[in-house]
Amino acid sequence: MVLINSKDYVLCRMQHKVQLSFVVPLYNEAQTIEQLITRLQAVLNTMSLPTEVVLVDDGSDDSTTIAMNAIALEDARFQAVFLSRNHGHQLAITAGLKMARGSKAVLILDGDLQDPPELVQAFLEKMEEGFEVVYGIRTNRKESWLKRFAYFSFYRILKQFGNIYLPPDSGDFALLSRKVVDYLNLLPEQNRYLRGMRAWIGFKQTGIPYERDQRFAGKSKYSLKRLVELAYSGLFNFSSFPIKFITRLGVVAILVSLAYLIYVLVSKFIYGNVPTGFTALLMAIILFSGVQLISLGIIGEYVLRIYQQSQGRPLFIIDKVIKDQTLINGQELLP
Ligand code: UDP
Ligand code: MG
Repeated sequence: MVLINSKDYVLCRMQHKVQLSFVVPLYNEAQTIEQLITRLQAVLNTMSLPTEVVLVDDGSDDSTTIAMNAIALEDARFQAVFLSRNHGHQLAITAGLKMARGSKAVLILDGDLQDPPELVQAFLEKMEEGFEVVYGIRTNRKESWLKRFAYFSFYRILKQFGNIYLPPDSGDFALLSRKVVDYLNLLPEQNRYLRGMRAWIGFKQTGIPYERDQRFAGKSKYSLKRLVELAYSGLFNFSSFPIKFITRLGVVAILVSLAYLIYVLVSKFIYGNVPTGFTALLMAIILFSGVQLISLGIIGEYVLRIYQQSQGRPLFIIDKVIKDQTLINGQELLP
């Protein structure tokens, strides 16, 4: 099925010259999408660069897909990518990055209007100064104190123990040059922690402070479980601290037991006391079983990641795409 509307002139311009792409992941954002499109269109109208918007549906089961279909068929500047199921925020962005054609840069932003698209001009100006990555730094999160505290601690922990410098309070909201996008697309890791991968790639990077708005409508699509998974990916993919931590824990445990042994021997031979240590024994057993289980769990995290990587599955599956107002079956995109 080929659906092309009358705006062919826009189409020709778009197909060959897209310089900037916006990548927007969407999962059940029916309450936001109309407002999102209005805001994006207003921004697009002011752009001097030929710009496309790649909307990625991450397996929504509400009317998000209907709105995406409609806009992609109506406005040639909008492309729509529909994933086969819910793959998660990071993979939805990954799919969008693969599809984005912007030859100059790609802006990643959330679909709930927490990341204001109007900031693109400020981001572009920074890029003109020679930066390959310009990310947003959240100055003020309008979120619950628990979530704010969790984010605050996580970024600081990673800063302390990570192998890369992850700017505190930066998220996925960022403008990436084509060069950086190409490198990101090359990285095959299954457990994707994009802000870490972005930092790992390097080149000149800088941040722009911005006020993170509340989501326009609806609830966060990140469950606590998903947030913890994301934090795990950050920690395990970008830090060898957990595995080294086990060794240190082992060393500390041995030192403590040696000290205790000395105490026992001294008590027995010098003071003639035979220690009555049933409780101490029980505590030691419980403590060290716990330590061993945690250690196994930490090793397990690495083994799991190796296993998932060795499966070699594609990162996401595309059901269909509406590109330049034309419907394409996802299978046609297979290499
Ligand atoms: N999202 C997605 N797939 C998911 C979860 C979220 O594509 O499995 C999208 C969501 O629609 C939104 C963006 O990712 O556009 C950020 O999600 P959300 O606002 O729920 O996360 P938060 O801002 O609360 O961290
Ligand atoms: Mg949000």
